[in-house]
Amino acid sequence: MGRKKSKDAALDNLPASIRLTAKKKYEVLIIKELDNGLYGECRQDYDGLNQIVLASKQFKNKKDVLITFIHELIHAISFEYLPDKQQLTESQVMKLERGVYNVLKLNGWLNI
Ligand SMILES: [Zn+2]
Repeated sequence: MGRKKSKDAALDNLPASIRLTAKKKYEVLIIKELDNGLYGECRQDYDGLNQIVLASKQFKNKKDVLITFIHELIHAISFEYLPDKQQLTESQVMKLERGVYNVLKLNGWLNI
C-alpha cells in the first residue's frame, strides 16, 4: 500500500458540507474536472443546492486543494454576507485567498 498523495489526503479530509449561516449549508463536492477547466466553482441555488465544487484533476498538492477551497469559501461568504451590489471581485477574492491561507498557515490552523 503506497502512501497517499498529499492532495488526496487533503481532499479526503475536507468536510462533506460546510455551514455558512445558521440557515444555510454548502455541500462540498469533489469531482474530477469542471467543463470550464477551472480549479473550483461556487454554486448558489444550483437546482436548489448550494455547492463548493473542487476539480481534483487540477491539484498538484495539498496547498492547491486548501487554497482553492478557501477561494470558493470566500465567494460563498461574499454571497451570503455582502449585499448584491458589493460582491467581491475575482481579483479581491484571489488576494483574500492568499491572505486567509497565510494567516491560517502561520498560526498552525491548517493541519488537515
Ligand atoms: Zn473565483
